[in-house]
Parts: sequence; C-alpha cells; structure tokens
Amino acid sequence: MFKFRGREQKIVTWVLVCCLFLTVCLSIAFIAGHTQHEHTGADCPVCAELQVAAQNLTTVGTAVFAAAVVAVLTWNLVTGLQKQQYQLPVLTLVLLKIQLNN
Ligand SMILES: [Zn+2]
Repeated sequence: MFKFRGREQKIVTWVLVCCLFLTVCLSIAFIAGHTQHEHTGADCPVCAELQVAAQNLTTVGTAVFAAAVVAVLTWNLVTGLQKQQYQLPVLTLVLLKIQLNN
C-alpha cells in the first residue's frame, strides 16, 4: 500500500478532490443533456447511463454530507475543549480563603 506524507499527501488529496468534482460536474452535465433523449426501449443505454450518473450524485452527496457532519462535530469538540480549558478557575489558597469568608 502506498504511504504519502507531507506535500505528496496534499497533492494526492487535491487530485482526488478534483476527480470527485469532475465526476459530479460530468454527471450533472450528462443528466442535463440527456433528459429528453429518444428512448429506444427496455435496454436503452442512455437510460442506463442516466441511472449511473444519478447514483454517482447520490453517493457523492451522501459522502459529502457525512464528511461535513464529522467535520462540524470534530470542530465543536475541539473548540469546546479549548473553551473549557480557558474557563477553569485558578484555585489558589488565597482564593479559597476569600470564597470561604464570603
Ligand atoms: Zn432511454
């Protein structure tokens, strides 16, 4: 299995994102261009390709939604932990004595 690190990993990631974006764009273009094709029967090749394109869009949409949910949850977890670290009061002996006197 290939292991990419650093700059190679960024390049591979961008290539994959570009391929995904190209797949979505081509699927949308194919569906838009062939919505009113001349249907040739039960084994119509255009209808089969339309189904594949629609399936691609469904799969990519689901994957992007899941990735967005994971990203938001991770972001909230990280920022929530950072806020808790800053909100912890510093309990010194003097502060505890003042609170006890109040
Ligand atoms: Zn057809």
